[in-house]
Amino acid sequence: MKTTLIYAGIAGKGFNSLKQGMDSGWISHGLASISAHAKNEGFEIDLIDLRALADWEQFRQEIALRQPDVVGLTMMSVDFNPVMESITHIKEIKPEIITVVGGAHPSVSLQSVLDHPEVDYTVLAEGEITFSNLLRAIENRNRPAERVLLGIHPNLEKLPFADRDLFLNEWRKWGYTMKTPEVPFVPELPAPFVTIIAGRGCRYKCNFCKPTEDFLFGKGTRRRSVANVINELKMLRDKYDFASFMFHDDCLIEDRKWCQEFVEAYHTAGFWQPYFCQARADLISHYEDVVALMVEHGLKGFFIGFESGSDRVLRFIKKGTTRERNIMAAKVCRKYDLTIWANYMMGLPTETEEEIKETVSMLKEIDPDYYSPAFYTPHPGSELYDYTIEHNLSLVTNPDSFRRNPTELKIKGHNLDFMMWALEESQKRTSANQLKRNARKLRDKYADPAKYVRKARQVLGIGESNPPQPELTPEM
Ligand code: SF4
Repeated sequence: MKTTLIYAGIAGKGFNSLKQGMDSGWISHGLASISAHAKNEGFEIDLIDLRALADWEQFRQEIALRQPDVVGLTMMSVDFNPVMESITHIKEIKPEIITVVGGAHPSVSLQSVLDHPEVDYTVLAEGEITFSNLLRAIENRNRPAERVLLGIHPNLEKLPFADRDLFLNEWRKWGYTMKTPEVPFVPELPAPFVTIIAGRGCRYKCNFCKPTEDFLFGKGTRRRSVANVINELKMLRDKYDFASFMFHDDCLIEDRKWCQEFVEAYHTAGFWQPYFCQARADLISHYEDVVALMVEHGLKGFFIGFESGSDRVLRFIKKGTTRERNIMAAKVCRKYDLTIWANYMMGLPTETEEEIKETVSMLKEIDPDYYSPAFYTPHPGSELYDYTIEHNLSLVTNPDSFRRNPTELKIKGHNLDFMMWALEESQKRTSANQLKRNARKLRDKYADPAKYVRKARQVLGIGESNPPQPELTPEM
């Protein structure tokens, strides 16, 4: 029996988009984990990644060529249209192919998937065990009668590591040449670059996000042991010789003890590679001791969900932080020379233009290294989505608009011209901050001249390799 997993993540960058930023440069850990588990159970699995293909015609050719018995597709809300279009093509080519859809969207908006009869099965929540069980049942000609199958929370300690080669081997066929199936997104994290997930779930209650995660992973966080994560990093080092990495976990530093243990084990195992992780602003300022420890051993930057500069809005979205805490977190980052990737939103329900200006002014105080703004997008499954529906505020009529890109209004009552001004203004540095930034660059240049020698050697293709020379970061 042959199973093909399909990654249909083309709502952002479209076909032919490998290596174009985060949307198109990274693997789907969900599919990679499904694949690892199913292969461990003895099933033959391959992948079609729409991002690597030229168009739907090529997709049809691949399906016709591979003739899978079963296809499995993962779907966030933004992937709805390309997933459904994939299934339409598949059924046109060979109606007997069994189609299985999983991922976040079916778990929070089941009916929208069940309305499509060409979807044979839907797996809710975590799919590794249930998908393999379904494959076994199909193989034994004992298919379940019901279309909706409940996922089972796996013991993360016992899951095989994510199958990154599923993506790499497929991408190679289409001309991809990097060592790992993930491209870096900032110069602080050189290639070969990988990403890793230490745990699933989050115990916080931000209402633009929750309770979706609780449906998927259960309440709270299930985190793998430090030893298990270090073993995965060792495997990644042996296999890909990675030069940097990133944790995808929603909030790694919420568990101080885990982080302290991790830092020690990381150092003892001889890792030197820089990494980024996500963290909440309140925790960064509360756990400065942990931050300092992590910085000593590789931590180079944080993704921080600052979200808003208005205390009223932060309370409204149940973020559990304040403007002051946001600014304190940025100061801690600056103190330890950590890169700040700032996530923030504008255009929320009930948000006024004055409050949006507070976000703009907060960004000027924070002075992040990277700006990642979004126009608030109401995602099914979240408490705030329900609020927008109840109050008839949503402007999202097509699933493609679930992209978090700040180019179109998603909520009624906002003025697009003002929002575009706020978007641009929020990303302008003050002259004082620009000066400080230039001064820091100069300081770094003269504090570590070896860095420039290494870079020159790398560009010229000569010289020593201690620490290992990274691949050149591709154009993003
Ligand atoms: S936004 Fe982040 S911190 Fe808040 S609930 Fe979601 S995952 Fe947790």
